[in-house]
Amino acid sequence: MKSSRRLFLRCLRLGRRRRFRFLKHLVVYLRYARLCIVSLTYNSFTNSDVIIDSLFEPIYWLVDHVTRWFGIVFVALVIILTSSIVLIVYICLLPLILQTYHTGWICWHVAYGHWNLIMIVFHYYKAITTPPGYPSQVEKEVPSVSVCRKCIAHKPARTHHCSICSRCILKMDHHCPWLNNCVGHYNHRYFFSFCLFMTMGCIYCSISSRVMFKEAYAAIEKIKHQEKEALQFASNETYSQTPPPTFSFQERIFHKCIIYLWVLCSSVALALGALTLWHAMLITRGETSIERHINKKERKRLQSAGKVFYNPYNNGRCGNWKVFFGVETKQHWLTRVILPSSHLPYGNGLTWNAPSWITYKQTPVFAI
Ligand SMILES: [Zn+2]
Ligand SMILES: [Zn+2]
Repeated sequence: MKSSRRLFLRCLRLGRRRRFRFLKHLVVYLRYARLCIVSLTYNSFTNSDVIIDSLFEPIYWLVDHVTRWFGIVFVALVIILTSSIVLIVYICLLPLILQTYHTGWICWHVAYGHWNLIMIVFHYYKAITTPPGYPSQVEKEVPSVSVCRKCIAHKPARTHHCSICSRCILKMDHHCPWLNNCVGHYNHRYFFSFCLFMTMGCIYCSISSRVMFKEAYAAIEKIKHQEKEALQFASNETYSQTPPPTFSFQERIFHKCIIYLWVLCSSVALALGALTLWHAMLITRGETSIERHINKKERKRLQSAGKVFYNPYNNGRCGNWKVFFGVETKQHWLTRVILPSSHLPYGNGLTWNAPSWITYKQTPVFAI
C-alpha cells in the first residue's frame, strides 16, 4: 500500500516536471518567433510616413509602370501637338501678319516667332536626350550622406532614387513623363528653359491669333445657324426661295484650325505658365521640388525647437539664378540664357560648394 502511494506521488512529480519543461520550451519558442518577426520588420527609420508609403506601395507601383510605358506616347504627343500648332501658324497666321502689318512689325513677328521656335525645339531635344546624371558606381568617388535602400549604394547630397528609372539621380527634381526622362543635375536647365519658352510661345500665339479666333468663332456660329436654316428650307417644300450660301470646305477647316490653335495655346499657356512660375520660385530659393518638401518639414521641426533653418544650397536670389544658368559674366546672359547653349552646369552634382564668383552669405531667416 505504502509503495503504491509512493509510486503515485512519483508519477505526479514526473508529470509536473514534464509539464513545466513543456511550458519552458513553449516560452522559448514563442520568444524566438517574436524575435524573428521583429528582426524581419525592424527599421530604425520606421515612422508614420514609412507605414503610409508601404500601404500605398501598390498604387505607386501602378503609377510608376504606367508612366514608364506611356513615356514615349507623351513625348510623341508633345511633338505632334507642337508641330500641328507650328503648321497652323505658318499656313493661317503668318500670311495674315504679312498682309496686315507694316514692315517693322512683320520683321519683329518673324524674328521673335523663329527665335522662340528654335529655343523650344533646342531645349526640348536637349531635355529628353541629356541624362540627368547618376552617382558613380565607384564607392570612393562618392561623397555620400546616406545609403539608397533600393540601389544599396552610397547617395551623395541632393541625390534621390527614381522608382520609374530604377536608379539614383543626381540633384533629382522629379521624373517628367512629358520628357520620358528624369529632371536632374545635367538637364534641369533644359527642362526649365523648355517650360519657359513653350509658355512664351503659347502666349505669343494666343495674343497674335485672338482677332482671328473671334472671327472664326463668329463664323462657326454662323455656319451652325445656316445649317439650321438649310434644314428648314429642305422641310418646307412650298418655300420658293433658294437657301443662303454656306461656307466652303476650306473656310470651315480654316476656322476650326484657328479655334484649335487658340484653345490649345491658351490652355497650355495657363497650365505650363503656372508650372514654370512654381519652378522659378524653387530656383530662386535654391531648392528642387523634392527638397521643397524636405526643407518645409525641417523648417517646422527646427522652428518648434527654437532653431533656425539654413538651406545649404542657397546662394541668394540672384546667385541661385546665376548658378542655375551658369552665368559667370554679364555676356553669359546673352550667350547662355537668351541664345541656345549646351554648356555644362556648375559642379559635378556630387559636392555642392558655392562657386567662387558668387559672393552670398546666408543670414538667419525663419521659414517664410
Ligand atoms: Zn537608388
Ligand atoms: Zn526617373
